[in-house]
Amino acid sequence: MVLPWVVRRTRLPLLSLRCVDCRSESATTGEGTFRVNANGKLLDVWLLVRCVSCDRTSKLTVHERAPVRALDPVELDGYHANDPELVASRLLDPLLARRNRFTLDWAGAWRLHTPSESIEEAWPVQVQVVFEDPVPVRPERLIAQGLGLSRNEVLRRVKCEIPLRRTTSAGFAFTVMPGRPPEM
Ligand SMILES: [Zn+2]
Repeated sequence: MVLPWVVRRTRLPLLSLRCVDCRSESATTGEGTFRVNANGKLLDVWLLVRCVSCDRTSKLTVHERAPVRALDPVELDGYHANDPELVASRLLDPLLARRNRFTLDWAGAWRLHTPSESIEEAWPVQVQVVFEDPVPVRPERLIAQGLGLSRNEVLRRVKCEIPLRRTTSAGFAFTVMPGRPPEM
């Protein structure tokens, strides 16, 4: 039996991005607004973010002097309409983060969904973790939380295909061994 666990966002993460006015290091996309500026046949597209402390707005470059014809018309419509899915996919795109020098702050913005059935009787049990959003987690912490075990117990009882202490956002599988040796 393989149990599915799912990591999923509950809202958009904040951005760790230093404000030039108040030096706060937290910004939000809020409702999610793009700004599109046409200059002849070239387009600039920005995603607007707001400082959480002082409300100062700054612009993250999404496209810079991109030929209009190079953009997918559906995507362009999405920028004009502030399509929430497009806001999410741009914000979570590592390229945007690299280009605009911010990191995502996932604290409190995601949840681990686990099946409700008890696994106590099915030792050893296999779990497959799926990431619907690229939330960086430490496997040992995630597993401890999902199974209600201490981290020491996780290190002792879990066999995992990836290092338990290294942060990941990619799916992985692990096996939980019984807590006590089976009786002969
Ligand atoms: Zn500020």
